[in-house]
Amino acid sequence: MSIRLNSLLIHGGIDGDEKTGAVNVPVYQTSTYKQDGLGKDRGWEYSRTGNPTRAAVEKMVADLEQGQYGLAFASGLAAINTVLSLFKSGDKLIVSDNIYGGTFRILDNVFKNFNITYKIVDTSDLGAVEAAIDDSVKAIYIETPANPLLTVTDIAAVSSIGKKYGKLVIVDNTFLTPYLQRPLTLGADIVIHSGTKYLGGHSDTISGFVVVNDKALADRLYYLQNAIGGVLAPWDSFLIIRGIKTLGVRMDRHVANAGAIARWLSSSGYVSRVYYPGLETDPGYEVQSRQADGAGAMISFVLEDKYDYRRFFEELHLITLAESLGGVESLVCHPATMTHAAIPADIRREVGIVDELIRLSVGIEDAEDLIEDLEQAILRSEKK
Ligand SMILES: *Cc1c(COP(=O)(O)O)cnc(C)c1O
Repeated sequence: MSIRLNSLLIHGGIDGDEKTGAVNVPVYQTSTYKQDGLGKDRGWEYSRTGNPTRAAVEKMVADLEQGQYGLAFASGLAAINTVLSLFKSGDKLIVSDNIYGGTFRILDNVFKNFNITYKIVDTSDLGAVEAAIDDSVKAIYIETPANPLLTVTDIAAVSSIGKKYGKLVIVDNTFLTPYLQRPLTLGADIVIHSGTKYLGGHSDTISGFVVVNDKALADRLYYLQNAIGGVLAPWDSFLIIRGIKTLGVRMDRHVANAGAIARWLSSSGYVSRVYYPGLETDPGYEVQSRQADGAGAMISFVLEDKYDYRRFFEELHLITLAESLGGVESLVCHPATMTHAAIPADIRREVGIVDELIRLSVGIEDAEDLIEDLEQAILRSEKK
């Protein structure tokens, strides 16, 4: 029986425990498994290689992405590390010009040392993507909406460029989750998640995921997952399954709140710029509406000159100044010194991550309370 998305969130993956009838997948807190004789294991050998609780969350995330094969990692960056390990010396990746700072860091300061290089491109400009392709390019790595400027890249169009030239298309889908966007159905080859964010949803677990459809690609990734070893622990696998059950109801509220706040901000007179692809005035609006079922709940903005952004952060009461995003609580951050500090200042400026940029992860509190908190903090931050 094929079921719809909200039912899949509850019954997808491995539904409960067949042996006991427990409605939740048990936490198999074990490192190894008894073998009945030489070469006679029961399907499980060692928990780096495979663990039933991890297998359940891997299948769950694969089902949600409408993919065949899922892999769970100890963090989003462990997932990214494993995907980048598909490449070899001399290979090059095209990457979106605003991406998560940690993704930039591992490319620039880890894989570059192994001569796996990258080329930064504004991937919302399809002509620029195509122009950047040469023989050494092996993959196009995009984030959409991208972190922190919410730039929207057309996944289907980039995927057809990838197909045309035989390059892998990798999409970091952290900001929207499969509840709102399913890149594999748009032609992408690999989907990556930081499950730390919306999938977990409660700011209590670090995790990462990879989903693919191609069997050969999946086999290589499973090999790398076991060889590199950055796997998700059983307890953390359980926490992510638990988080995913409420993904739908959380995302609906996240998106509704973000829409209300983005509209309020842009008509408030307090800001010189709002980045949110759910606003009709946003350059990404049209593509976003076509390829996703919502614009997500990340908003970036720049205050008018007369407000001191440093002071603004200090005046917030309800909204917490912290790294990360996608939890039930609203978080605010300063990309230039926090999430994107790993990107050199000149590159930051070039791509528009100005020092004044503020990034807001809209939680599921009452939107009116969040707006009141933002407004009082802005007013108190007025320069003397
Ligand atoms: C947080 C994040 C990552 C890294 O994930 P971790 O779980 O922190 O390792 C990757 N991509 C995006 C878009 C993120 O927001």
